[in-house]
Parts: sequence; C-alpha cells; structure tokens
Amino acid sequence: MQLLSDLEQQLNALDAQQLRRRRRIADTPCAPHVTVDGRKLLAFCSNDYLGLASHPRLVEALHEGATRYGVGSGASHLISGHSRAHALLEERLADFLSPHLEQARALYFCTGYMANLAVLTALTAPAGRDADLFSESLNHASLIDGARLSRARVQVYAHGDNAALEVLLKSSTAKTKVVVTDSVFSMDGDLAPLPALLGLCERYGAWLVVDDAHGFGVLGKYGRGALEHFRLRSPYLVYMGTLGKAAGVGGAFVAAHATVIEWLVQRARPYIYTTAAAPALAHALMTSVELISGHEGAIRRAHLQQLVGQLQAALHLQRWTLFPSQTAIQPVIIGRNDEALRASAALHEQGLWVPAIRPPTVPADTARLRITLSAAHTAADVTRVAEAINAVEAGVPA
Ligand SMILES: *Cc1c(COP(=O)(O)O)cnc(C)c1O
Repeated sequence: MQLLSDLEQQLNALDAQQLRRRRRIADTPCAPHVTVDGRKLLAFCSNDYLGLASHPRLVEALHEGATRYGVGSGASHLISGHSRAHALLEERLADFLSPHLEQARALYFCTGYMANLAVLTALTAPAGRDADLFSESLNHASLIDGARLSRARVQVYAHGDNAALEVLLKSSTAKTKVVVTDSVFSMDGDLAPLPALLGLCERYGAWLVVDDAHGFGVLGKYGRGALEHFRLRSPYLVYMGTLGKAAGVGGAFVAAHATVIEWLVQRARPYIYTTAAAPALAHALMTSVELISGHEGAIRRAHLQQLVGQLQAALHLQRWTLFPSQTAIQPVIIGRNDEALRASAALHEQGLWVPAIRPPTVPADTARLRITLSAAHTAADVTRVAEAINAVEAGVPA
C-alpha cells in the first residue's frame, strides 16, 4: 500500500537524522526515583517542580473527589458537566491571582494546550482578519498552533527583542492586537521581559497573553507565578497557568478580567466542544493550590532554588555550556544531535535519566541535555548528576 510506504519512508528519514523518539514506560509514580522499562533511574526530566505529583495529601484529595463526584463529568461544561468542584476551583484560582488582575475570574481547562488554543482564537475572533498577533519566537508549540488556528495575521518577533516588537506594534493598524509569550521558556529556562512587554502592550492597546506553564507554583513568594515575580497588575493581562506541572495534577486555567473569561465561556471552541475534566481532578487541585500558597509551598520553593544554585556551582563544563537560567529548567547545550544522544545514553548507563532535546523542539545545532530539578530532589541527587555530566563531557565514564 503506497500510503503506508510513504509513512515508512518518512519514519526512516527520522531514523537517519537520529530524530526518532521513543516512549519509556514508567511503572512508578512521578518522582526522582523511578522504575522505567524495568530499570531503576534517578530522573531529571519531569515538570513536577514542587514534587507534588505523588504527594500523599493530593492522592487522598483525589480519592475524596472521586468518592464525592465519581470519576467522569459526563458532558461538556455548557451542557451538564460543570460541577461544584470546577466552580470552587475557579473561584479559588481567581482569588489567588487577584492581586495581579483587575476583576479577576478564572476558567479551568482540560489541558494547557487547549487553553492556549482557546485564548488565541477567542481574543482575536471579534476582529476577524483585522487582528494582529505578535508571537515570541521561542513560544511553546501550543501557542504556535493557537496562532495558526486564529484568523489573525501572525508576526513572529525575535526572542527577547522588545525593540523589534515595538516596531511591529507601532505600525499595526489592526482593530485587535495581541502579544503572546511564554513567561519561562520551556527549553531554555530563561524569563521573558514581562514588565517591559506589559508597558508596550498598555501603550499600544494590545492584550498581553502570558503562558506561565513553568512559572505557576514556582515563581513568586506565594507561588502565584511570573506576575507575582515581576509584581505586575493590569487589565491588559491574560494569564494562562498549567496545573499538571508544579501543581502536580493536570489541566490548566486562564485568569483575566471577568469580561474576557465570560467571552471564552461563550465563544472559545476548545472550551465548549470537549467533555469537562473529571471533577475529582478539580477537587484535588484545591489541595494543590492550598499546598502551593501555604508554608509547605514556600519551603519547597526555597529548597528548589537551593538545588538550582548547587547544580550551577557543581557543573564544570569545557565544550558544552550551561545556559544561563535561574529557574528549575537547566539546559546543557551540546550542539550536535548525535553527541547529545550519546551523552544522554551515557548518563542512562549510570542510572541517570536526563533527556536529550533535539530539533524540531529546539533550533538546529542546539541539541541539549535538559535537566529539570524538583523540590523532591536531594542535594545528594544533584551532586550525583553534576559529577556524572562533568565526567561524560570529559569522555571518562565515571
Ligand atoms: C506544558 C506546556 C503547555 C501545555 O500544557 P499542558 O497542560 O501540558 O497541555 C503550554 N505551554 C507551555 C509553555 C508548556 O510548557
């Protein structure tokens, strides 16, 4: 069959470029020590930044949620799937983000991917084709797809280049303007210059959509994320936080002025035409927010920050470079795909799981080891991975 052999040829081409990916099967919960494909590994690859994904209080809350609400919502939110658990979570999240937004309201989504599609399509929809969407060049794939799905004219501005963005904003005559950016860039770990971006958006009358997937729960004294870190507050802000990373469960939310959220409820197709997430998840997430915003969250964030500093001090690289990042995402840039793969394989031999990230996820010739740290790691875990990477780079198997 021709159609199948076309696909086989494409897959062979991926093999030839060392770009074929494979999934590893985990038999243990998300935690630093895992059993994967039958092997015990110390993992540095999850986005479970606070170590909440297998927290006993969250496991208990999910049980309780299932007992109270069952396991399925049964329908979309606008039909009959919107439960008290969803409503309470949305109120809690709106209250949590309220220092940073005017008339804050929040909307819970099944995934961050869908939340991003929803925000970008719905915000630009009223203007039809008379909308300009300005997208940072290192934005997450879900924002790129959301921009494509919208009818807006999409213009990509260079990473961190506010001057280039200002030129574009100044020359835009579109009825609706939207600037969209990751707050913490997922493959580099660096932060977007949000205060200056917000200044530009207020000056030129543009929405600022902030994807805080890697900031929510992690940044800020209370874990409110990038808006708290930078002390921002504005009616121009549309905030997207995910709940499957630091919050340890799953789903995502958009928080913004109540009018924006009401518009999403009415018109955002990725919100409307999908079955509501299990209410039990929303119920468990109430406990996540409690943990994040309380004393335990503060202790976990402080420990995570300590591990980041420890890793930076312990790596001594020659050819490779540790990308400057203050967040839990610490990339070691290697360059070539095959070298990054060999480095990751050598670490795996030593019982360490540090993924090699290759194009198209990152630009060509910037293949890397992406180390992600979690508050569940210990100082000894970090020493072990740093020493192993130092040795692998030197070509000396430790
Ligand atoms: C993970 C991620 C998303 C998608 O969130 P999910 O809930 O996993 O679908 C969106 N944006 C960024 C920057 C992410 O890292």
